Amino acid sequence: MHLRNYVDGTWADSASGATFENTDPANGELIATVTKSTTADVDRAVEAARRAFGSWRLVPAPKRGEILYRAGELMLKRKDDLAREMTREMGKVLAESRGDVQEGIDMTYYIAGEGRRQLGDVVPAELPNKWAMSMRNPLGVIAAITPWNFPFAIPTWKIMPALILGNTVVFKPASYTPLLAVRLVEILEEAGLPKGVLNLVLGSGGDLGDHLVTHPQVDLISFTGSSDTGAHISELAGKLLKRVSCELGGKNAIVVLDDAQIDLAVDGIVWSAFGTSGQRCTAASRVITHRGVAAEVIDRVVARAKKMRMGHGLDATTDLGPVVSKAAQDKVASYIPIAQKEGATVAAGGRVPTEGALSKGFFHEPTVLTDVKPNMRVAQEEIFGPVTAIIEAADVDDAIRIVNSTKYGLSCSIYTQNVNNAFKFMRDAECGIVYVNAGTIGAEIQLPFGGMKSTGNGHREAGRAALDVYSEWKSIYIDYSGKLQRAQIDTPS
Ligand code: NDP
Repeated sequence: MHLRNYVDGTWADSASGATFENTDPANGELIATVTKSTTADVDRAVEAARRAFGSWRLVPAPKRGEILYRAGELMLKRKDDLAREMTREMGKVLAESRGDVQEGIDMTYYIAGEGRRQLGDVVPAELPNKWAMSMRNPLGVIAAITPWNFPFAIPTWKIMPALILGNTVVFKPASYTPLLAVRLVEILEEAGLPKGVLNLVLGSGGDLGDHLVTHPQVDLISFTGSSDTGAHISELAGKLLKRVSCELGGKNAIVVLDDAQIDLAVDGIVWSAFGTSGQRCTAASRVITHRGVAAEVIDRVVARAKKMRMGHGLDATTDLGPVVSKAAQDKVASYIPIAQKEGATVAAGGRVPTEGALSKGFFHEPTVLTDVKPNMRVAQEEIFGPVTAIIEAADVDDAIRIVNSTKYGLSCSIYTQNVNNAFKFMRDAECGIVYVNAGTIGAEIQLPFGGMKSTGNGHREAGRAALDVYSEWKSIYIDYSGKLQRAQIDTPS
């Protein structure tokens, strides 16, 4: 298989002729060769998007919505094939890949409905014979830069709201997941998207990113990825007064109080810490447990982690797939000696398998660290792998203080039967997403998604909030009095 760019309605290789390889992280098998774009390809894509913007913004939004509905139907029909390709491309187990595709379908249908909403305000004017209202206005060309961990869902979070509002898009997906990006663009092409409205540029973010971000014809950069890249993009864009939306990392925590249902909490911890091999931005990389139940929580989480089976995500007996790359595997492994040096104990896992089929992929054992203190590096830094750190707390106030002690603020959860503690937690946890009696993963697309503090720059994806990122308000006043009326001055007494 060979994957190409999609620019101005045409699938084509980069003129550079260079390629890179797309491989299965579970076994190293080649999936596809991929065209490696240059900044000249970025220019062509941005120019095509700019040209298409002139007519796309004038297509009635309900008609734009119809294209999205058709895309949703195609996704539904292809759900299983898409999920299988996703598991091969980035490693997560098949059930989770199906969930990723379903999230893309949900988002596409939800946003298609915005074709007939996009509500603005009509408010009374303070002067007679005057009309006052506001409406959303598209921004222009959107650069959508996405990560590999949700290679279908996250692009839909950006592309669908951008399109429904009348923007056009240049899509730069992660280099580890070009295949799912191609599949999404194929679907939108088949659904009837006019040429130039969505353009796909495959290649290295390091090579293309600065050019795309600083391109004078790009109006908004919508980025999901690491905090380092997000800060770099924000700096470049800030100097040019460009709009930027960043969704970055997390150091998410599950709190277990001494009145919690421990069975439920352990299920939530295992699912949230090791789902997608810990590579969700909302993964529970910290567990903050009340001292009174710490021994029981640790024993049970450790026992469950030790039983998890690593393997290819397409194998029905697999609990835990590989991490995405050798670099990711090395990064995860590097935190084990860091944890031990700071006084933590490796209570489960901690190793990279070196024998048999597993040695051909980028696996890391599901790992539980105990004796962790809130200020240790493993309790502060995003590891982005199957590692969770268990920290003990004295009470709910202590637990909330520990939850809030990192620079991130994406997702957190509390297990308790005490309604007072639950409400206190909901109010005081500094996170964009809070769960009660559920783990830290599992957001639904009809509510805002994103984080406080260094997890982002204040924007939210999904839900109605997504529309705010991809549009600007235009306030309109119509004076039909036939004379000069001065606001704040000629107000009738
Ligand atoms: P990266 O920041 O490395 O990459 C994200 C995207 O940015 C990729 O498409 C990448 O391209 C591109 N990129 C890399 N360098 C540049 C650059 N200089 N300019 C512009 N674009 C660039 O993150 P990962 O792919 O490793 O994703 C994992 C991170 O994403 C984690 O930290 C995780 O927490 C975060 N994340 C946050 C989510 C959220 O909503 N808060 C959701 C999912 C992930 P290439 O692949 O070619 O390098």
